[in-house]
Amino acid sequence: MASPSDHRREATIIDGKAIAQTIRSEISSEVRQLSQTYGKVPGLAVVIVGSRKDSQSYVRMKRKACAEVGIKSFDIDFPQQVTEAEVISKVHELNAHPDVHGILVQLPLPNHINEEKVLGEISIEKDVDGFHPLNIGKLAMKGRESLFLPCTPKGCLELLSRSGVTVKGKKAVVVGRSNIVGLPVSLLLLKADATVTIVHSRTHDPESIVREADIIIAAAGQAMMIKGSWIKPGAAVIDVGTNVVDDSSRKSGYRLVGDVDFQEARQVAGWITPVPGGVGPMTVAMLLKNTLEGAKRVIRVRVSATDIFRDPADVVQEVREGSL
Ligand code: NDP
Repeated sequence: MASPSDHRREATIIDGKAIAQTIRSEISSEVRQLSQTYGKVPGLAVVIVGSRKDSQSYVRMKRKACAEVGIKSFDIDFPQQVTEAEVISKVHELNAHPDVHGILVQLPLPNHINEEKVLGEISIEKDVDGFHPLNIGKLAMKGRESLFLPCTPKGCLELLSRSGVTVKGKKAVVVGRSNIVGLPVSLLLLKADATVTIVHSRTHDPESIVREADIIIAAAGQAMMIKGSWIKPGAAVIDVGTNVVDDSSRKSGYRLVGDVDFQEARQVAGWITPVPGGVGPMTVAMLLKNTLEGAKRVIRVRVSATDIFRDPADVVQEVREGSL
């Protein structure tokens, strides 16, 4: 019979949907303040090429999320046959547009357009996805600050901090090393003073490495790969993985699962995110946050660049009128 000391509480479920909602309300009130003080709202340009159903639905979701918090969205919809030069010329136009504070190009682009080339043309001051090599490079360097952090990795760290999980001094294991999740989340954890190990498809004995972790970030895209037995009791588990598996009990015939076996892991972990409803909602919330931060930076620069001996009310008036 189990003694009382054998009894372990189940993991705290980190409710990403609720946390993302709180963040959206915070953004909404900051946007209102900006608008009242300076007559300016943040602007996000969302560029989409073609009519892929999944991309269309992501873009719709992002535009709707902007509208809900008062961010102005600039909608650029190109047909599938648009040329690379036309897309790049639009990016240049948006780079110069004073009311656009963030530019997002929905991926993937059609095969005849070089994604890396297009993304490289986005001004780093407007790179709200945080994928520009200069932003990632700064993230990797000690003492440097990126202008924007990539949204999903930033969302993972935000989930940890808002759940009261300390990162400093902890052992973190990241499963996956992609440019959009694994690598940047590892760099962010390192900046937050964790000791970081990265596991990838060539890693020998990933199970024993994951079992050492106080914090696990799973981003391999492998359905339920991480079992309960891989997890150190009390660890914090952030599951980025979003995998479709067959499920004949569902009307759709499928369901979404993470990279972690949730039912097993929740018996062992201290904290865990569900899939769906964990990291997913945070990605869009962080995109809105990045756009707001971009707008605030521009307004701050305009205000502080003016003569300190001038009446602040005049400066604010000029920002409102767009002459500053
Ligand atoms: P990628 O396919 O680009 O990268 C997967 C990474 O996982 C690679 O580094 C790969 O290693 C590693 N990997 C693959 N198999 C294994 C394995 N068996 N053991 C250890 N490592 C392995 O995927 P992404 O980074 O783009 O996405 C990862 C997951 O996160 C996906 O399920 C995706 O759907 C989800 N995602 C969710 C988001 C959200 O908002 N919730 C946003 C973005 C992604 P190697 O480098 O050696 O090939």
